[in-house]
Amino acid sequence: DIIEGLKSGADDYLTKPVDDMELIARLSTAERIIRLEKALRKRNQEIALLSITDPLTRIFNRGYINDHLPIAFKRAARYNQPLSVIICDIDHFKAVNDNYGHQAGDKILIEFAAEINHALRTDLDWVARYGGEEFLVALPETGLDGAKIVAERLREIIAGLCVEIDSREIKITASFGVATLSRDSDTKLLNMDELIKTADRCLYEAKEKGRNQTIGKKL
Ligand code: GH3
Ligand code: MG
Ligand code: MG
Repeated sequence: DIIEGLKSGADDYLTKPVDDMELIARLSTAERIIRLEKALRKRNQEIALLSITDPLTRIFNRGYINDHLPIAFKRAARYNQPLSVIICDIDHFKAVNDNYGHQAGDKILIEFAAEINHALRTDLDWVARYGGEEFLVALPETGLDGAKIVAERLREIIAGLCVEIDSREIKITASFGVATLSRDSDTKLLNMDELIKTADRCLYEAKEKGRNQTIGKKL
């Protein structure tokens, strides 16, 4: 019976007649194990969250993009839904660091990320830090026209942002590249890298054309 019980998942057992003191001691051991297990589970959740969080801006990091953009891509392909990505890059950010210092640059990155994060619908859309001063916004179920509207709205928010550094107000702008997997795109020949590459090319074009603007293309 003891072996059967343990095999069925019991953690411990007592045989009758039960000694009260022993029962209490066993229960307190069981309680300690439960406490440990709970703490471990909580810590694992925290570690999982940390692994997808950018430590500076507290938004998602590159790892999150690598995990979740392919899923968004597959979902769009399977249900024949559009999917757009926006890559934005702060204009002349090196000059900001050079003029005001790296800490000021960091503060701008934090506020930039917070502004973009707050401006998005949180149900489906998400933003992640793609690299240094580059951010990627994913817009599932959004076609090129819709994504360009979102990008323009974000661009205006950033252009209107004032970041206070040493009681001075610093203004920045950013350029936006948009790429859309549309309903007519041949999803068998395409993947997430293509989407990012196209958005990157559009971003480069926006920079070339004078920055603080949005350029978008369908795949
Ligand atoms: P462009 O308009 O062409 O984008 O010019 P840029 O100066 O923004 O571009 P560039 O790629 O030359 O410079 C990016 C700068 O971003 C350089 C780097 O020091 C800065 N940067 C990247 N990551 C961080 C960060 O975490 N903190 C700070 N303060 N600066 C960063
Ligand atoms: Mg850059
Ligand atoms: Mg830049």
